[in-house]
Amino acid sequence: MKRLLVLGAGTAGTMAINKLRPMLPPSEWQITVIEPSDVHHYQPGYLFLPFGAYTAEETIEPTDRFIPDGVTRVRAEVDRVDADANVVYLVGGESLPYDYLVIATGTSPRPDQTPGMDDPEVWRKSVHEFYTFEGAMALRETLETWEGGRLVVHITEMPIKCPVAPLEFTFLADAYFAEKGMRDQVEIVYVTPLEGAFTKPVASQLLGHMLEDRKITIEPDFMIDQVDGEAKKIVSMDEREVPFDLLVTIPLNMGADFIGRSGLGDDLNYVSVDKHTLLSTKYDNIFAIGDASNIPASKAGSVAHFSVDLFPQNFVNHVNGKPMTAAFDGHANCFIESGHGKGMLIDFNYDTEPLPGKYPIPGIGPFSLLKETELNHLGKLAFRWMYWNLLLPGKELPLPALMSMAGKQTDALERV
Ligand SMILES: Cc1cc2nc3c(=O)[nH]c(=O)nc-3n(C[C@H](O)[C@H](O)[C@H](O)COP(=O)(O)OP(=O)(O)OC[C@H]3O[C@@H](n4cnc5c(N)ncnc54)[C@H](O)[C@@H]3O)c2cc1C
Repeated sequence: MKRLLVLGAGTAGTMAINKLRPMLPPSEWQITVIEPSDVHHYQPGYLFLPFGAYTAEETIEPTDRFIPDGVTRVRAEVDRVDADANVVYLVGGESLPYDYLVIATGTSPRPDQTPGMDDPEVWRKSVHEFYTFEGAMALRETLETWEGGRLVVHITEMPIKCPVAPLEFTFLADAYFAEKGMRDQVEIVYVTPLEGAFTKPVASQLLGHMLEDRKITIEPDFMIDQVDGEAKKIVSMDEREVPFDLLVTIPLNMGADFIGRSGLGDDLNYVSVDKHTLLSTKYDNIFAIGDASNIPASKAGSVAHFSVDLFPQNFVNHVNGKPMTAAFDGHANCFIESGHGKGMLIDFNYDTEPLPGKYPIPGIGPFSLLKETELNHLGKLAFRWMYWNLLLPGKELPLPALMSMAGKQTDALERV
């Protein structure tokens, strides 16, 4: 009997076990998933929680609901992998041997990595985040009674998961305060380590204009040195200071600590893999999927989805000594909420940046790329249902895993 061990039953791990179980005969393959949390969080919902647009219950389901028959779930946290001995050690001391390992332990916000950020005097009082359930709920409580002032939305360092989420939060905050009739009492500043609103030129220019139109100031190239909670300011490495009344930060994102302890990761604990096959660059029996890997794509549920569409057949080929023929292209597809019931959509990959056009049917849509529409907003809302009912159970969506150029306006590149 061969043993496949999957670490983490978040978005990528859950999709992978649901797709792999029917492909690996139970008489030959034992599949075990290690996941400490009894609840599965729909993380895109964290964006809406601070504004009261989702209830807490809408973002949570029991983890076990999505574990398929024939897969054993171990409720535990991984402490260390001994990749030379093919053994995973759990917190508490138990050990589990494996033949093949799939690491799907994601990435987490780490406010402890920036001096002053998680100071208990200010943390979840005047300094907030919305990248965890607890953080999003605490921010909701603060926003409910906040009387206005200077709101600073801040990104510590890239890469972060869902790199458009801070922009979406900023657009939604603008709309939220306008709808509350207090927009003129709030100054909004967007502070980023990037040189513009986003990483890629065409989208960055458009998103930058959208910030300007909403009278949101952008402070680019800001590499944070510390949060001075007492003086209510953030200070950069080059000694620039940005004062705040309310700071909403995206702390440094890092892979799980055990990856570093096991010698499997880079500086930020991301597992080094081949960007087309997700196979470890060091070990022939270890894969990393979802946010846990170091592939140069967005850390996003959509990337997890498209790559995990291709991964199972590659896995089966690999264990049977055949070549892995499917090459993942870094395909990412993200809705961007822009407030007042509208949203945008971007679709891109390792080589092609987000461009205007229509998706998924070229020339028809119904979704519009890099354009604010109500349909895009409705698409984002509908995605929660698709996540729980189609994606996590490993069902097929009518969306190709690899990005297509059909329907994209390439001449937009010449206009930047
Ligand atoms: C605010 C916000 C908005 C977002 N919006 C979007 C969006 O609109 N579109 C989009 O595509 N993506 C979005 N994302 C990103 C998306 O949620 C993630 O990219 C996706 O969940 C990654 O899946 P994953 O399986 O790699 O990691 P996760 O889903 O985070 O799962 C990791 C799992 O590993 C487990 N784990 C961690 N450490 C250990 C350990 N030591 N031992 C055992 N288990 C462990 C965790 O408990 C967790 O269940 C958003 C994220 C956030 C925070």
